Amino acid sequence: MSDKREVVNEIFDRLKLLHPAPVCELNYRTPFELLVAVILSAQCTDKRVNEVTAVLFEKYNTPEDFANIDVRELEGLIYSCGFYKHKAANIIKAATDILCRFEGKVPSEVDELTTLAGVGRKTANVVYAVAFGGQAMPVDTHVLRLANRIGFVKSDRPEVVEKALCEIIPHDRWTEAHHLLIHHGRYICKARCPECDKCNICEFCDYYGEISGNK
Ligand code: SF4
Repeated sequence: MSDKREVVNEIFDRLKLLHPAPVCELNYRTPFELLVAVILSAQCTDKRVNEVTAVLFEKYNTPEDFANIDVRELEGLIYSCGFYKHKAANIIKAATDILCRFEGKVPSEVDELTTLAGVGRKTANVVYAVAFGGQAMPVDTHVLRLANRIGFVKSDRPEVVEKALCEIIPHDRWTEAHHLLIHHGRYICKARCPECDKCNICEFCDYYGEISGNK
């Protein structure tokens, strides 16, 4: 297969066989709940975030709620997610921003989302892709690692990786490809010990080529 676009499509077609229904594993009911969950998920597992939000969202779940919440109470509720002071401050700032500048509704465009206090490009891309069905390539730790291992790009800078992936992956597959890379990274191409014996894209992978002496 010589055409790069064909190779890229083949890689994601194969990953889809391994991970047939890749979706965001954070629990949420509204775009705002997703935004809070994504802020909490930095340096934390989705499982832990879901445990925390199951309790948190019972009591607080709107921008109004979080704009008026006592910061100490919020810190206590999200403590187990780590970086709780920073995350609590960001959630309150974002909620206040949404109330003041967006009439209480989470904006649906990446450029607007990134203007919210405490919302970086990755968080904005996830909310845009998952809550609003947009095509985006949020780069988290799994996407960064796999993009480098497979050989799509060689960079440890998320913005460089996002640009490179968006250039080689067809636009209508960006969000799907993002979820596939996360699932593959979480369950097979793990950070410490990738389980290459369970992988179906070995022939396209730079890392596999290096460890098997084929490249
Ligand atoms: S061959 Fe190994 S390193 Fe390459 S993507 Fe598959 S699991 Fe990851």
